[in-house]
Amino acid sequence: MFVVMSVSASEAEVNAVKAAILAEGLHPHENEGTDRVVIAVVGEVGPRRQALSNRLSAMAGVETVTPISRPFKLTSREFHPEDSVIRVGSAVIGDGSLTVMAGPCSVESREQLMETVDAVAGAGATILRGGAFKPRTSPYSFQGLGVEALRYLREAGDATGLPVITEVMEPGQVDVINRYADILQVGTRNMQNFSLLLALGRIEKPVMLKRGYGATIEEWLMAAEYIVSAGNPNVILCERGIRTFETYTRNTLDISAVPLLHHLTHLPVIVDPSHATGKRWLVKPMALAAIAAGADGIMVEVHPHPESALSDGEQSLTPDQFRALMGSLRAVHADVADLHRDPVLSTAALGVGGSSKH
Ligand code: PEP
Ligand code: MN
Repeated sequence: MFVVMSVSASEAEVNAVKAAILAEGLHPHENEGTDRVVIAVVGEVGPRRQALSNRLSAMAGVETVTPISRPFKLTSREFHPEDSVIRVGSAVIGDGSLTVMAGPCSVESREQLMETVDAVAGAGATILRGGAFKPRTSPYSFQGLGVEALRYLREAGDATGLPVITEVMEPGQVDVINRYADILQVGTRNMQNFSLLLALGRIEKPVMLKRGYGATIEEWLMAAEYIVSAGNPNVILCERGIRTFETYTRNTLDISAVPLLHHLTHLPVIVDPSHATGKRWLVKPMALAAIAAGADGIMVEVHPHPESALSDGEQSLTPDQFRALMGSLRAVHADVADLHRDPVLSTAALGVGGSSKH
């Protein structure tokens, strides 16, 4: 349930409500909205629900006590009607601007990364991506350069002013990656690695949570809930395709997840058309479709020489292809900005309240 305080509630009244929730062994999670405070009651409320709801409703400064109908609470739009906006260095994600994360699948050498970052930064990417620790299907494939790659990523990020995102695969890697990267990425294979999610809930840097390739949207949001309820509200969701019976593409890109997520949650949504399709020539149309559907941005793989890439060369764009993609993306983004602000199409009109996307 969540407790909506009245616009004029005092700090003491807010604190009294929080104390009453704590006294029940539950956790109060506060969302300071634009005009009023909303407090979510998080934990197993069980049969106490009605009595607790009555008691909180009667407290000074409380306007209403409402059940949260979804299993995900802190990530739901019901609790947090405004879009979450995540700021990291020079980048702002979720404010209606176009976020473009680009870079190689794997960092292979200092030269390869520097050549790539010059190209993607020059073309207008807003965040540099690059894998340091690689989750490979085969133990015989290139596993990444590890900490050496983290150092190159930091150097490339500092040289260009781009924030850096890289994947973390296990709780033991969180500290070192947190030291070098600006955004920590959870890959598809680890979406339900709960000890990793909890460890990421204890840091402050943003976390980009990719959808598990066999996960429902609800399972995905519950995974995000692990991070947020553990204390880190800075979560970005990334749709990267799910496994279906189709074999022409590496995965099947679920574009409907984009408006659906905007309806269900306040968290920003990124789409990765590279891993979704596995084919270079499908990346551009799917990237444009993602932005047309209202995604906050995309993540794409770019390699200066895809034919000799150590991982995912067949889905990596060349720098020239990336530059061309950026031009088209900007055009589509400018075209749809007003459409997503249209009250008829907005999440507010769908009955979830709050602001519309873009
Ligand atoms: C990646 O982004 O490098 C990656 C491995 O993606 P995914 O987890 O979506 O397969
Ligand atoms: Mn890859």
